[in-house]
Amino acid sequence: MKLPDEIQTIISRLNERGFGGYVVGGCVRDALRGIEPNDYDVATDAAPGEVLEVFSDKKTIETGIKHGTVTVVINGKNIEITTFRIDGEYRDNRHPDEVRFTKYLADDLSRRDFTVNSMAYSPKTGLADFFDGRQDLENKIIRCVGDPDKRFNEDGLRILRALRFSSVLGFGIEEKTAASIHKNRLLLKNISAERIYSELIKLLCGIGAGGVIADYFDVMCVFAPELGKVAIKGMLCHTAKTVDNVPPERNLRLAAFFHCAGEGHGGVECASVCNVLMRRLKADNAARKCVQTLVAHFGEKINADEAYMRRLISKTSVGAAEALIKLKCSCLLAMPDGVADTDIKEAKKAGELIKKLVADGECVSLKDLAINGDDLISAGFEEGTKVGAVIKRLYEAVLDGRLQNDRNTLLDEALRLHDSLMS
Ligand code: ATP
Ligand code: MG
Repeated sequence: MKLPDEIQTIISRLNERGFGGYVVGGCVRDALRGIEPNDYDVATDAAPGEVLEVFSDKKTIETGIKHGTVTVVINGKNIEITTFRIDGEYRDNRHPDEVRFTKYLADDLSRRDFTVNSMAYSPKTGLADFFDGRQDLENKIIRCVGDPDKRFNEDGLRILRALRFSSVLGFGIEEKTAASIHKNRLLLKNISAERIYSELIKLLCGIGAGGVIADYFDVMCVFAPELGKVAIKGMLCHTAKTVDNVPPERNLRLAAFFHCAGEGHGGVECASVCNVLMRRLKADNAARKCVQTLVAHFGEKINADEAYMRRLISKTSVGAAEALIKLKCSCLLAMPDGVADTDIKEAKKAGELIKKLVADGECVSLKDLAINGDDLISAGFEEGTKVGAVIKRLYEAVLDGRLQNDRNTLLDEALRLHDSLMS
């Protein structure tokens, strides 16, 4: 396993001082899969105070010293070094009451969640794999380290982490671990909304999201009970397929997941359920509003018609209209074969039409209108009165294609409207 220079430096320095130094967890898993790890976590038998002393010539940050984590800054990079730990009891089903430091790597690896996340590597001693993580990695299996019931009761978030890794890595979940997930799903009620939302987004953006949604829908309903309607309406399989069909972007995947959440198939009722759900999950406002807009307009039939499309963009934005087309195509493709062929063609044409409207610089928002209130005042309109109403009527006419977005045409029409409004 090839390690970045700063990690090599840290491990060599620990070794020179008589301590062990290993990369652990996600980075070992990813490196063995042939994927560049996001970040490297280092574990050692040196106590936190000893780590600070070994790196006393470097900048260090006492990140989570109580839990054994010290950050060392090398070449401008922050590297976390954590002392081998044994977690104490978990009385709140989320955090250990206390952590104890240990001299043994095996102890530290045994507290980790899944076998594929429980491997360590050091250039000196090679791979440490006490729980057959490498074999599970080859067989594409997520399996708890130890007894699943015990491990999920210690920390309920692991339930959602298992589903997230299954979706992101495209792995199956081992039988006993899977049964335990279903059985212990209510433990997710102890987990904060923020943690659930962040795991959910990763899960939804994974390559295996649809399968996980279909197989573990009961788990999703613990934190999103409103989704129960999806199953009652017989739309679960359709929802799962729609999620898989849509590109793996957060808002698109969320909208696909929630698009059948209320009465109807998309539309304002589903959008309002989605709003409640995302508020409860503490989603940020931008994401919540975007997903809500997508689900609300989802109920409409998309027409590849210039006036319809100009109106849709003016009510939302170019980005939202494009996203809506992607969603609509994904949903239609998730219908039984042949049922939606005509609608799919129409939606694809609508996608092309958006590109054309943008390329032609067409008026799709009030600021694109060839005249504004000042132009009307210069043309003799009294300030305030009627100006707003006339601009609005001109804008509507341009969106509908009844008027060209041309200054003179619009001024002529404005004067005509002025006379009729005054008379
Ligand atoms: P990612 O690529 O998402 O960062 P990761 O496996 O590195 O995946 P992290 O959340 O960064 O995940 O955690 C690092 C390591 O810490 C994991 O690989 C696992 O060994 C351990 N770990 C993290 N969270 C838990 C948990 N809730 N219970 C047990 N072990 C955990
Ligand atoms: Mg990580």
